[in-house]
Amino acid sequence: MAHLNAEELNDLRAALDAELASLEEDLASHGRAIPESSDWQGTTGGLVGEEADPNDAADQMEELATNVPLVEELEKRYKEVAAALNNMEKGTYGVCENCEEPIPLKRLRANPAARTCVVHSK
Ligand SMILES: [Zn+2]
Repeated sequence: MAHLNAEELNDLRAALDAELASLEEDLASHGRAIPESSDWQGTTGGLVGEEADPNDAADQMEELATNVPLVEELEKRYKEVAAALNNMEKGTYGVCENCEEPIPLKRLRANPAARTCVVHSK
């Protein structure tokens, strides 16, 4: 990541940190962390109990139908952002994982968690 100077790296790290924090918040409000793993699961706000009102249960099923795919998306993004931060620690940040060419700063500013150069993005 020799193509990035300290200031640029600091900016990108700040963007990644902020995104990670907001993803954590979103994940916590739409799902719950699965204990002893780094995974999350979509849940409803309420408890699905035996005495649940049938209407509540229907609402919760609906909420679950929204939250499960949402949490999957959030989790995917969360892992990308965490991986980018990890790469910064290791000094391998900002390099295409396909061709190992430096990823242009402009692209990183648009998506600080980008893992590939423009050519190798899908
Ligand atoms: Zn590439």
